[in-house]
Amino acid sequence: MARFSPSEAGSRVNGGFRGVGVLALQGGFAAHVGKLRAMGALIREVRTPADLVGLDGLVLPGGESTTMTLGMEREGLAEPITEFIRSGKPVLATCAGTIILDDAHLGLLDISCDRNAYGRQTHSFEADVKIAEIDGEPFTGMFIRAPRITRIGEGVEVLATLDGHPVAVRRENLTALTFHPELTSDNRLHAKFFESIPVGHLAEIGKDRDRTSAAASQSSQPKSQSEGASG
Ligand code: GLN
Repeated sequence: MARFSPSEAGSRVNGGFRGVGVLALQGGFAAHVGKLRAMGALIREVRTPADLVGLDGLVLPGGESTTMTLGMEREGLAEPITEFIRSGKPVLATCAGTIILDDAHLGLLDISCDRNAYGRQTHSFEADVKIAEIDGEPFTGMFIRAPRITRIGEGVEVLATLDGHPVAVRRENLTALTFHPELTSDNRLHAKFFESIPVGHLAEIGKDRDRTSAAASQSSQPKSQSEGASG
């Protein structure tokens, strides 16, 4: 099983840790890693099915949904990710991560997405998004070649809309956004997600950490070898 990187000290909560995976086949995973790490998550970048073992939560980042879908097929990740999501552990999807869950892809969220729906003129834009269950100011939604959610199935809750279209939805453990909360300094959405993750239940994670921490203190290895650049 893949280990957490030596740099991931993580914060112990009630004697355990939250082990959070970030799908890292392609796209904007590094900013999610940074935010969740700062909150105290033990981060593991997910590139193979083995990387999912023992995780308590998962992020599906933005990027290119076609490339991500091909990568998942190549690595045999579609089925383990499906199982992970069905197991009820918290999952946060952003933009392309939302597209790969829709009815035309993995079919794990009963929504339809129109890719790149905002067109060339508004390739990328910012808009205030008022999100149910996030108190205070509206969130600054960064929309980058964003999809538009054009259909919502039964059991899918709409948390926020923009011009009448859902931009944040939830079904049970799955929260899916069409914008990029990892690209702003506002941590409220990540904090909400992080707090929804049950503290690590697998002793394996703690052992992993102990081993990697010991290894890190014995060597002068550069930190964060697994933190790849995002595309
Ligand atoms: N346009 C991309 C796609 O179709 C999504 C863009 C994003 O994730 N920011 O996959």
